[in-house]
Amino acid sequence: MLVVMNHDATDAQIEAVTAQIEAMGYSARPMPGKQRTTVGVVGNDGRVDEGRLQGMPGVRELIAVTRPYKQVSREWCADDTVVRLSNGTEIGGVELAIMAGPCAVEGEAEILEIAHQLRAMGATILRGGAFKPRSSPYSFQGLGVEGLIMLARARDETGMAIVTEALDPEGLDLVAEYADVIQIGARNMQNYPLLRRAGRSGKPILLKRGMAATITELLLAAEYILAEGNPNVILCERGVRSFDSHTRNLLDLTAIPVVQSLSHLPIIADPSHGTGVRAKVIPMARAAVAAGAHGLMIEVHQDPPNALSDGVQSLYPEQFAELMGQIGVIAEAIGRDLVRPLPGPVVSGT
Ligand code: PEP
Ligand code: MN
Repeated sequence: MLVVMNHDATDAQIEAVTAQIEAMGYSARPMPGKQRTTVGVVGNDGRVDEGRLQGMPGVRELIAVTRPYKQVSREWCADDTVVRLSNGTEIGGVELAIMAGPCAVEGEAEILEIAHQLRAMGATILRGGAFKPRSSPYSFQGLGVEGLIMLARARDETGMAIVTEALDPEGLDLVAEYADVIQIGARNMQNYPLLRRAGRSGKPILLKRGMAATITELLLAAEYILAEGNPNVILCERGVRSFDSHTRNLLDLTAIPVVQSLSHLPIIADPSHGTGVRAKVIPMARAAVAAGAHGLMIEVHQDPPNALSDGVQSLYPEQFAELMGQIGVIAEAIGRDLVRPLPGPVVSGT
């Protein structure tokens, strides 16, 4: 339920509506807009006693939010959400945000080297897992907190923002100390305690679509994070399971315009996990930009054949540079632009 205030509603009237909503046992989310303030009623299941709000001074109308996900929906907020990172990168606006890096942080020298290369090629967000959700318990599980410290060092040297995954609620608080954006992976998209903790972290969250999740389930997972008071959620299409074995997953590009019609949250694409095949990453990255994605997440490794995880889908740095040149042209053709490369000199070389 949304309570739309008159354009000349006073602060006192808005406060009175907020107090009334809380007295009815719900939470109120005032949202000042360009024309007028709207107050969201959170925690209701559609049975709000409208009579108690309808006639209040300053109230223009009440609007029922019909989608099962409320705060995530376009009905709740017509304007696109733009997530702003401290290094100036914006996700969800006209610019295209580029996150790139290895699947896993493998060592300090390696992550610093690739970070410097990627920054020089125009990426402004460095990815790399310190805690890895591997299908096999015998595969490399990540460097843990040491990996987080290495990522922080890479941020200090390059000015890139850091996105890295949290696997469980307790671990999320640790990741939040280092990351600029906390990733919740496909395998954890419906880990509700983790989503709730992410909602209380105060950090932007990159929420990846589960490998068998519908778009509605993805949006409901995001709702858990917003319901805890965190509006900074970036959705990520990373491919779903299919019957065809030519690729690891089926990158669902229709999810991009579908999500954009249903939700105000930004959505990026991950063609690395979405295809699982190096030769398919560049074509699908180009297609995702053309489809209107707000950004890309791309795995890049300086020595993919010897990578500790996901080497078969990791681009060589030269391929990433080629991709950056191509997507700049596509972005421009659809009225978008690449996020500007980070200004200023690199702090120190490797
Ligand atoms: C990853 O980003 O390395 C990853 C594990 O992604 P996903 O959760 O999409 O499989
Ligand atoms: Mn990976």
